[in-house]
Amino acid sequence: MGVSKTFPPDSIREAYAAGIRVFGENKVQEFGGKASALADLADIEWHLIGHLQTNKASRATELFGAIDSVDSVKLADKLNAAAEKSGKLLPVLIEVNVGGEDAKSGIAPGSEELEQILLGAPRWKNLLIRGLMTVPPYSNDPEEARPFFRRLREMSDSIRVRKLPAISMENLSMGMSHDFEVAIEEGSTCVRIGTALFGERT
Ligand SMILES: *Cc1c(COP(=O)(O)O)cnc(C)c1O
Repeated sequence: MGVSKTFPPDSIREAYAAGIRVFGENKVQEFGGKASALADLADIEWHLIGHLQTNKASRATELFGAIDSVDSVKLADKLNAAAEKSGKLLPVLIEVNVGGEDAKSGIAPGSEELEQILLGAPRWKNLLIRGLMTVPPYSNDPEEARPFFRRLREMSDSIRVRKLPAISMENLSMGMSHDFEVAIEEGSTCVRIGTALFGERT
């Protein structure tokens, strides 16, 4: 996935010309401002990868093809209602705060909220819950991220074997510019690359 946040439509066109078809943006409002300038690129899959406030769920459902940062039952409720209203099936990932950092969004591993999302899935008829996403604690040394990536994969494996209704665990979104190799070694199915593709963000 090319992470194009903060970059203008022209940069996205360049990445598109190079063959990228899956893009991630982290803010509803920012992407809302760029979307119309890119509307002709019809085969792009746009993912929201940043924290989503429940009051923006319906706008996000209009703009994005997938939401990779679901982190509460309330947000799942709102997204499902919005997707139902627009007659769409919305693929989502559950964001997990594997490092337990206060400043990061995502659900705590093993928490009641996570369990409620897993068990609540059958009632969200317009959501397709397809896996987990995480941003581990930052370190210059990618090896330090390895235990967190491994933990996410183990969580995904242990959810999969429960064979819960309306939950599939086929996607594991983890790894960024500085640590994607380690993430792939630990089972990532989607690396989210910003800086290494687009350059430093200002
Ligand atoms: C910005 C961002 C990325 C990309 O980070 P880089 O280090 O620039 O590759 C990946 N995932 C999320 C959730 C982001 O917000």
